[in-house]
This record gives sequence, structure tokens and C-alpha cells, in this order.
Amino acid sequence: MYKISNSGWIEVIVGPMYSGKSEELIRRIRRVKIARQKVKVFKPLIDNRYSKSDVVSHSGDSIEAISIDHPEEMFAKITDDTDVIGIDEIQFFHPEIVGICEKLADDNKRVIVAGLDRDFRGEPFTPVPELMARAEYIDKLHAICVICGDPATRTQRLIDGKPASYDDPVIMVGSQEVYEARCRYCHEVLKDKKVVQYE
Ligand code: ADP
Ligand code: ZN
Repeated sequence: MYKISNSGWIEVIVGPMYSGKSEELIRRIRRVKIARQKVKVFKPLIDNRYSKSDVVSHSGDSIEAISIDHPEEMFAKITDDTDVIGIDEIQFFHPEIVGICEKLADDNKRVIVAGLDRDFRGEPFTPVPELMARAEYIDKLHAICVICGDPATRTQRLIDGKPASYDDPVIMVGSQEVYEARCRYCHEVLKDKKVVQYE
């Protein structure tokens, strides 16, 4: 998909953690640069795990990006001659991101976004479902389940080695938190102190 059309569009890359979303975003942006198109890449300020200002994949690949707090900040960085906009970790942005992606596509930009489609409970991660509905193209990637080796569609949250509870806060001070890729069968969430498997 190259930006040769008059019209813009939205591409969404989703999946659980470790499914290769950042790798795929980086691959597409590299090709945009090879085509000598102008691109701006953004990521949320809170995602500083590997680098303050780069999109970095779990395999160590990286590409230059701009960290922003609120989606509106993109407008100050995007110019008329920007052809393509890439956004990683889209699930961490304010829901206003949906309307902004639509506006950019209406302004004839190619908008490529990557992010988690489900939270650690296995529930849809707002505002990603809405973006998926509005997108022209969707790629749903799978990781490998660390328990059984099947394709993984979920992100398992472990707190001090145990499956997280449905009601656990997003930030658990003083606890050791780990995330794993798991399939539907192996994904576990504690509810009322029992392990429940969704669907
Ligand atoms: P995402 O952005 O979806 O979290 P990344 O693009 O950062 O994924 O990383 C994908 C890479 O993670 C894979 O190419 C592989 O090298 C590595 N990896 C580590 N654990 C797993 C796993 N359980 N399943 C698949 N890939 C994994
Ligand atoms: Zn499994």
C-alpha cells in the first residue's frame, strides 16, 4: 500500500503483546521512507519502556518517533507535505485519537496505527475497536502462546507470578508485574479469587 491515491486512509495493526505490531509498523514506515515520502511517527509519552523518543520492538528494531501526551499535539508536527502518519501504542491515547485519525485520512494522509485490541482481561481496549470499525485496512497479528505454542491472541498479566484479577488497578505499586502472550485456552483472569477463562 503506497500513498499514490488522491484519498487518504486508515490502516490498523492489532494483536496481543509480542505479536509483532511494532515490527510491522517499523517495516511499513521503512518502506514509506524508501519511497521518499514524508512521514511522522508518534507514540504516547507514557510508553518510555525502551526509549523516550523511538518506537522500539521486542526484537530490538527501532525507528525515530515523537512522544506526545495528547493526540492534538500531532497537528503542530504534521505539515501539508506530510504523506504518512504512524502511531504506536494507540490504546494509550485519549479517545479523541479516533476523530483525529479520521480527520487526517480525510485530509488525504495515510494513517498507520498499531496497538493492543484487548486489555489484560481479554476485553476490547478502547478506543481501538472503534478505530478498527473506521479503518480501511486491518491486520490482526498473533504472538505465540508461551504455555502451549498455539497462536496467541491475548495478553496475560501476572502479578507476583499469579494471574491478575479482573478488578486489579492498572498500576500495582510494589508488585512485580509481567506480561505474556497466551492463547484463548491458556489465558487466565482471577475473578472473585477464582480463575476464569473468558468465553
Ligand atoms: P508488539 O509490538 O506486538 O508487542 P514487537 O514487534 O515489539 O511486538 O515484538 C515482536 C517480537 O517479539 C517477535 O518478532 C519475537 O522476536 C519476540 N517475541 C518474544 N516473545 C514472543 C512470543 N511469545 N510470541 C511471538 N514473538 C515473541
Ligand atoms: Zn495456549
